[in-house]
Amino acid sequence: MSKIPEFETLDEAVEFWETHDSTDYWQDMEEVTFEVELHRNLLHPKLTILAYRPKHCPRCRQNLDDIVIEYIAHENGRLLIIRDVPALRCQTNGHEYILEETFDRVEQLLELERTQRVQPTERLSVPVFSLKKAA
Ligand SMILES: [Zn+2]
Repeated sequence: MSKIPEFETLDEAVEFWETHDSTDYWQDMEEVTFEVELHRNLLHPKLTILAYRPKHCPRCRQNLDDIVIEYIAHENGRLLIIRDVPALRCQTNGHEYILEETFDRVEQLLELERTQRVQPTERLSVPVFSLKKAA
């Protein structure tokens, strides 16, 4: 496993990560926790956000397939569906990833929707059931 060099500037860091595979440095990375208001994808709750596109699955080093997923977010009591969201899935264990730039676009779209500056391409009706016995 390789060591991540110290960067003097953000440009240096960007250049480095554009020319190196982040999975080669996975062991040298630290886990960080920060609070952000993420819109969890209800269909893919374990989707991991990656800053850079890796060559192999960061968790199990298997090959990654490009896939397209639907993103379902729960927003103020409403369900919102975003289709055609590019993502990555590892071939053997199904670990799923979304690139940060894609996730940013999802967030931007949800923000536009929140402020009613974008119209949906279609509307679906959703059947709702309850297990509670009728009174
Ligand atoms: Zn994997």
